[in-house]
Amino acid sequence: MRFVSTRGGVEPKSFEDVILTGLAPDGGLFVPEHIPQFSQQEIASWAGLSYQDLALKVMTPFVADAMPEQDLKTLIDDSYSTFRHNGIAPLVQTGHNEWIMELFHGPTLAFKDFALQFLGNLLDYTLEKRNQKVVIMGATSGDTGSAAIEGCRRCSNIDIFILHPHNRVSDVQRRQMTTVMAGNIHNIALHGNFDDCQNMVKSSFADQSFLPDGRQLVAVNSINWARIMAQIVYYFWAALSLGGPARKVSFSVPTGNFGDIFAGYLAHKMGLPIEQLVIATNQNDILHRCISDNDHSTRPLEQSLAPSMDIMISSNFERLLFDLYDRDGSAIAGLMADAKAGHMDLSDSALTQARELFSSYRCDDEGMVGIIRDTYAECDYLLDPHTAIGLEAARQCRSSAETPMITLATAHPAKFPDAVKQAGYPQDPELPPHMADLFEREERFTVLDNDQDAVQQFIAGHITV
Ligand SMILES: *Cc1c(COP(=O)(O)O)cnc(C)c1O
Repeated sequence: MRFVSTRGGVEPKSFEDVILTGLAPDGGLFVPEHIPQFSQQEIASWAGLSYQDLALKVMTPFVADAMPEQDLKTLIDDSYSTFRHNGIAPLVQTGHNEWIMELFHGPTLAFKDFALQFLGNLLDYTLEKRNQKVVIMGATSGDTGSAAIEGCRRCSNIDIFILHPHNRVSDVQRRQMTTVMAGNIHNIALHGNFDDCQNMVKSSFADQSFLPDGRQLVAVNSINWARIMAQIVYYFWAALSLGGPARKVSFSVPTGNFGDIFAGYLAHKMGLPIEQLVIATNQNDILHRCISDNDHSTRPLEQSLAPSMDIMISSNFERLLFDLYDRDGSAIAGLMADAKAGHMDLSDSALTQARELFSSYRCDDEGMVGIIRDTYAECDYLLDPHTAIGLEAARQCRSSAETPMITLATAHPAKFPDAVKQAGYPQDPELPPHMADLFEREERFTVLDNDQDAVQQFIAGHITV
């Protein structure tokens, strides 16, 4: 399968080329040239498969020409062997036809492990085959960095440099990154905020001449296609567990950069009967305003208690728009220029199509804290703040009580003790056993000024593989 840019300005590329880069050269994001389809019979025949075997079925059409099936199977098996629940993505019932899918049993307790455990293995496999070595550079406000580091700690062809804003990520989040002692892992604490980190990464991708010959930068944020692909699987998984494809299901997804929920959209396109996809946002609600009011105007970022959803513009929304605009790259380029300038207007036809599948809801900190409190009291179940927003959105938006509604639990509550304690929980929520000693572990990171030369020199001087 080949991949095209959402802005239509580049020749189609192979799977390998796409996963080993960042944005397309025209500034767009890569998407498959066509979306593979499964018949209802085929999907039905997957009932009862293990998570890993299901992943093989769902991902094969995208990857088939890049590697033998047996190799993909090994990559998948290795990637999910690090998860600490045998069900990989277990479902928990919280009400009548109301379910939570726990996506936080990976090494860093957030759903990002689903994609990044796999991406690390996939990149290393591909690089080994091509006899190539690369540098991963990424910015994080918390969850992405640790998941990427855990995904790459055993990769022998990758150095990874993760920038986080100095003193502005939580202690748990920082320690999950800085206590990994592998030689190819490099943590940079930048004097600045998350935007400064991200701008540093962007400008470094744009001019990579600071790297030694033959090295290139690879992105591990959700613009990387392989991340989206790995996330499609758990939508099939949940549906098959609850009577699909004979029965439709709905999902509510705590949304930031629109990567996770875009994977749900693809599952739908690939043939999975999905009734509703609910976009759940916090007070940074550009996607909710866009879907409900056609108001895609940027507003200043507000810090919330669900920080992994604190975004101004969702990068993967462009991938959805590309479809809604009949894959017209120049239309998307125009829209994105408008969005960057502060405001974009969707066409009636694009909005109508989007609303056939998507609904949206905004839940602020106060509402979210109430949901954590009530759910703990009623179900003895402790939600993390992102999941709480998802659950509230699920309840507010669901169009039918007969259709199972599944909220994606994107993180373990122990990652976000502030929100949980504000909800009246009496202590820091407990970390799972494998992380219980996190606060005793040795840390390693380098503090650097927000200075491009300093950061780039540091990277060029610390490449180890
Ligand atoms: C990254 C993240 C999100 C947002 O996911 P997107 O794919 O960016 O929409 C939601 N919740 C948690 C806990 C996250 O780490």
